[in-house]
Amino acid sequence: MLVSPEQERALGLNAYENILQKEKASQDQVLNQMLQTVGWRIANAARRPDFDWEFTLVENDKVANAFCLPGGKVFVYTGILKYTEDETGLATVIGHEIAHAMARHGAERMSLTLLAQLGETAMQTAIRTQSASAIRVFDYAYGLAANVGVMLPYSRTQEYEADHIGLILMAKAGYDPRAALGFWERLSKGKSASSSPAFLSTHPTDYDRIAKIKNLLPEALEYYIN
Ligand SMILES: [Zn+2]
Repeated sequence: MLVSPEQERALGLNAYENILQKEKASQDQVLNQMLQTVGWRIANAARRPDFDWEFTLVENDKVANAFCLPGGKVFVYTGILKYTEDETGLATVIGHEIAHAMARHGAERMSLTLLAQLGETAMQTAIRTQSASAIRVFDYAYGLAANVGVMLPYSRTQEYEADHIGLILMAKAGYDPRAALGFWERLSKGKSASSSPAFLSTHPTDYDRIAKIKNLLPEALEYYIN
């Protein structure tokens, strides 16, 4: 891993401010309340006092996306709510995205991409100075380039890890992890619809996620029941 947590956070904070300026925050009180409730329950289960949690609902029904920036800034686009359907579905997405951030998967992707493009020395300079190329790669690595349509999926290993941690987080937060299956099934069906959900391009369904989640459920359920 060539991107340090501090560098990752600095880029994350920059991205956070840009997104807040660029996107329209939802004024829907019911939906905002739901996001705060679910978000904080998952955040408390994550036990990361070093994260500075914040949950923002973006008003954009055309974009089905959600992500967590390094350091705990979570964005959910209203377009994904038709797939999450309820609190537990939302907990599935937030648990999964927070898991990616906790495991620093974006930094892994960013390291690989910048390394391939620039080599190590130039890469360190690009990150330190927050150059345009570093910011572009950051957006790409963290799934922020949703509207641009040039996203690289996470690796299967990263997805499996995020599913695993995410299921445990949602279970610890009091949400039935079995409901995760429904969300992923609804999302994969959305693929055939006229507009493909952005979330799908960072979350490939070309392998058997559902089967793997079923295998992870007994462990996650222990946290839910106890
Ligand atoms: Zn993922």
